[in-house]
Amino acid sequence: MLEKVLIANRGEIALRILRSCRELGIKTVAVYSKPDEHLKHVKLADEAVCIGPAPSADSYLNIPAIISAAEITGADGIHPGYGFLAENADFAERVTDSGFIFIGPDADTIRLMGNKVSAIKAMKASGVPVVPGSNGPIDEDDERTLRLGREIGFPIMVKAASGGGGRGMRVVKSEDVLLESIAITQAEAKAAFGDPTVYMEKFLGTPRHVEIQVLSDGKGNAVYLGDRDCSLQRRHQKVVEEAPAPGIPDQLRKEVGERCAEACNKINYSGAGTFEFLYENEQFFFIEMNTRVQVEHPVTEMITGVDIIKEQLLIAGGLPLRLKQEDIKIKGHSIECRINAEHPETFIPSPGKITYWHIPGGLGVRMDSHIYQGYTVPPYYDSLIGKLITWGDDREIALQRMRNALSEMVVEGINTNIALHRDVIMQDEGFSQGCVDIHHLEKVLGLD
Ligand code: ADP
Repeated sequence: MLEKVLIANRGEIALRILRSCRELGIKTVAVYSKPDEHLKHVKLADEAVCIGPAPSADSYLNIPAIISAAEITGADGIHPGYGFLAENADFAERVTDSGFIFIGPDADTIRLMGNKVSAIKAMKASGVPVVPGSNGPIDEDDERTLRLGREIGFPIMVKAASGGGGRGMRVVKSEDVLLESIAITQAEAKAAFGDPTVYMEKFLGTPRHVEIQVLSDGKGNAVYLGDRDCSLQRRHQKVVEEAPAPGIPDQLRKEVGERCAEACNKINYSGAGTFEFLYENEQFFFIEMNTRVQVEHPVTEMITGVDIIKEQLLIAGGLPLRLKQEDIKIKGHSIECRINAEHPETFIPSPGKITYWHIPGGLGVRMDSHIYQGYTVPPYYDSLIGKLITWGDDREIALQRMRNALSEMVVEGINTNIALHRDVIMQDEGFSQGCVDIHHLEKVLGLD
């Protein structure tokens, strides 16, 4: 078992990890950038080490500083959270080479899944359904590229193999602009991710984003914890998530879930992970795998009762997965609203001091947030200040609880997107009915 874990992250996820460590009796080390010394988890951790100044590159992405902090404090494991170094294979390798346990899959697996081209190839080989596409990177042979394009059929999506965060993607409507669009995406991908490799995928017109959460110990034991629907997106970024995904035939859910668990065993996957799919016409199409805990993991926790972070810690500590597929029972429905420090209409980030903070409560209401009254949201990092999660026996109750909860929540001193959730999304008829596609929110917002 792990005895002391260094949390290489900040904000709500750092606090979330700290809570699970405490429940397991694991000591915690917080690392923080200079302006983050007032973060809640920094105050609650057993030890805290400043690892650098505000810019992420000098602190939360500063591998030598993080490793040194682990050495100085005698931590035995490092939890990367999400974002920052969570899917950086070199980091995972450095952690392991320095004698610590990386709480996540091994570096080779992160590398395999971090490259979307190799991930798709591996998943296809494991029997996971993928989006029809180029089945590999685009090369110099323009004739071949054009032929492949015609075979896939337009519109096509050109995607960066190393892309992430909704960046490095371009829709191509017709053959005459294909080569030019590929060249632009390659240049952008090189600048943004240091890797110009791109591939082609059929552009699905009105898919939903449905993903499957897995836990696997790398020793032949893997389970899937049901699915989540994350179709409400703005600029390919998730805004609201829910579990289970509404309206999917149970048999199909089960088949895809089983394929994902099998794929984990095939690649000896160790830890928590998510298979992301587009879902259209009752078909699942794999797009990528995230080899870390995700922002939206709480909705799965609410419907399964499984503490995903705790399981990550136990797996990393070397224990065999204690859950069997038959132990996973889906109960009720859960919805999550991402609360961001940003203007509800312009989406302009709104850092600053929170002068008043009142969070909702009641049965089936959960708030995952590091914020407290008087806390100042720094301008340097992601604008996520919390996640409001509700649970109910069914979707209607979860929705009603979310509406109530949002109406109780008060944040003053900065702008937040609470009004967007409360007055727009939770009142929207389409969303209330369920099963909307990935373009729905942008249509509602008049952005399409
Ligand atoms: P990232 O790693 O940047 O999150 P993903 O491959 O997961 O990129 O895609 C992000 C989002 O982009 C998806 O949730 C979906 O909204 C859209 N998208 C990705 N691939 C396709 C596709 N082939 N057709 C239509 N939309 C897509």
